[in-house]
Amino acid sequence: MNRRFALMIDPVTADEQRADYGDTFTHVDAAAPALSVGELSTQRGDGVFESIGVIDGHAQEVVPHLERLAHSARLCDLPAPNLAQWRQAIDQAADECGEGEAVIKLILSRGVEHGPTPTAWVTAAPAADFHAVRANGVRVVTLDRGYDLGAAERAPWLLLGAKTLSYAVNMAALREAHRRDADDAIFLSSDGFVLEAPTASLILRFGDRFVTPAPNGGILHGTTQLSVYEHLAARGFEVGYDRIPASDLPRADAAWLVSSVRLATAISAVDGAPLPVDQPLTDELNTYLLSPRD
Ligand code: PLP
Repeated sequence: MNRRFALMIDPVTADEQRADYGDTFTHVDAAAPALSVGELSTQRGDGVFESIGVIDGHAQEVVPHLERLAHSARLCDLPAPNLAQWRQAIDQAADECGEGEAVIKLILSRGVEHGPTPTAWVTAAPAADFHAVRANGVRVVTLDRGYDLGAAERAPWLLLGAKTLSYAVNMAALREAHRRDADDAIFLSSDGFVLEAPTASLILRFGDRFVTPAPNGGILHGTTQLSVYEHLAARGFEVGYDRIPASDLPRADAAWLVSSVRLATAISAVDGAPLPVDQPLTDELNTYLLSPRD
């Protein structure tokens, strides 16, 4: 795929059933103006989104992404998305993606200030090239996220666990990682537990057991992590969710960052200390993640 475009969606209510939602989509070139002045997504980051990997025109794991979009919308008091309408928009965009790796983003914003409806659209674009990091791994640093594991439950208005458009903090953490001569970051809770990366979930291996931070601690429940767990469980490995103290991180037998477009990248160092890399398993995970998944 080598061009970018968007489908603007005229959102219908969640319970409106139609055989075809095609007349609610408007195709726009990515360079064309599409949003109104006063859009709350651009003014306040007030909205939610999803990024879906597309392999050779096949959108991966659409249902888990739609379910998370609906979950994020609920946490943000946004109108419930009509999942059949979004599904058709994704299918239409994926059909135009062609060969290679692409990314479809779903964006649901609170809309224009004082406007009657949310604003909704999907974008399609070529994926960044992740071949090198899938093959070579990434060096990470740990960074304080500034809240403890109880914050999500204690302070739901922080919207922890929702995939909101407010990613300025996540991007700042990546810049800080680069300043510290690393490729990526792992957030730690202020009470010393491992959370997630700014744009990925974390999976650790201890012997034949794989563990990831429990999603109720204020992190996103990753669709890729769920897929990887399905694959590992089918291979006979034990998989689980836990509170993982930061002190466990350097003791792992292997670790990965996983997300929908990068897929699986091995972590080769944490805070400057090398971590063992299991490249054969990384390659196996990526072969699996690149296969069509629904
Ligand atoms: N955690 C955060 C903060 C993310 O932004 C992402 C993806 O962008 C993930 C985890 C991984 O989610 P998924 O595997 O569904 O892409």
